[in-house]
Amino acid sequence: MDLGIKLKRHWVDGKNMGLVTRQRSLLAHLRRSLETSGHFNGESLRDDVRKIKKYSIQNIEKITNEAVKNLKKAGWNVYLAENGESAVNFALDFLSDAEKIVKSKSNAVKEIGLVEALVREGKEVIETDLGDRIVQILGEKPLHPLAPAIHISKERIAEVISREVGFRVRPDVEEIVRSYSKWLLKFILESDASITGANAISAREGAVGLIENEGNISLITRLVRKHLVVSYTSKIVPTLSDALKVIQATSIFGAGQPAGTYISFISGPSKTADIEGEIVNGMHGAEDVAVILIKTPEIPEELHEVFCCLNCGICLSVCPVYYSSDHMITGKGYGGIGVARSFVYGEENEDIWRCTGCRACGEVCPVRIDSGKLINFIRRSYERENDKG
Ligand code: SF4
Repeated sequence: MDLGIKLKRHWVDGKNMGLVTRQRSLLAHLRRSLETSGHFNGESLRDDVRKIKKYSIQNIEKITNEAVKNLKKAGWNVYLAENGESAVNFALDFLSDAEKIVKSKSNAVKEIGLVEALVREGKEVIETDLGDRIVQILGEKPLHPLAPAIHISKERIAEVISREVGFRVRPDVEEIVRSYSKWLLKFILESDASITGANAISAREGAVGLIENEGNISLITRLVRKHLVVSYTSKIVPTLSDALKVIQATSIFGAGQPAGTYISFISGPSKTADIEGEIVNGMHGAEDVAVILIKTPEIPEELHEVFCCLNCGICLSVCPVYYSSDHMITGKGYGGIGVARSFVYGEENEDIWRCTGCRACGEVCPVRIDSGKLINFIRRSYERENDKG
């Protein structure tokens, strides 16, 4: 795919190493993703994924009802939440008997404040994605959806991981990874419940699709007795093959890989019927599984594309504001799409006025979302409000 994008190394203050590291990774991410997309028919995949996501959002009520019915049929405990607060209440109830909880990356979990609510109940909640765990221990804001610790040096990470594992880890990337992985496996085996998000949910099959490279999602959804999925109704698509397309686009544009290292579709609890045909839940994987589907708010049709985002993060590599500053990082996402999303959820964000209107994001987005156009619509609605006031 030739998008005519000129990759230029921005001049940065030599002292600001966090920003330099982040910019290097963003450029590498962009190059990798565009190259992979060129090899794997990225343009027709983009057309297909846009069609799937647009159809799903336009028919959200219908496919949500179908998903709820088929998820239940597959053995999931399903809760359709009106808002984040009711989702948290359901989760607290479902996880009431869990003391140690392991979780993987999930925007929905972050946005509804579920980890904080669980911690207030006295539970220990550990992020299992390495980058997320680093920022969790440091109490910092993740700076990228797929690479949350993108701005932190290996020297600082080695200190953090040394504290975690209880012995000195050298600032050597491989040593850091090995030490954390050993420590984490032990913690996972002692855990009572796991929490994940969903990259896509298929309505017809009642299956939750997840993609990952680290293997942490596979471990926590197999080795731990209870599994809770927290997601939005906007993640539902009609069929398993639609979900797979969404997942492949996420992988190509998000990580520059034709397929993530692990792709899982989970449809219900693990089970066996090997003895006299009697079904027993909980063979090797989770035996008690639940899905929370948080309803997406009703918004003007002009903003519907906000809910089509796959959260792949490629638009961040071309956003001049995000790329060269610490702006365009909101509680509801990153870049232009994150700013638009925060508006949809009723949050005031002055970054709405920082967008340069370059529209580069729409050029690279796997769903062809033009975040600049969404931002223009929001700006006009603010201006209309001001005119009235
Ligand atoms: S707006 Fe598009 S490019 Fe940006 S994160 Fe969402 S899907 Fe990816």
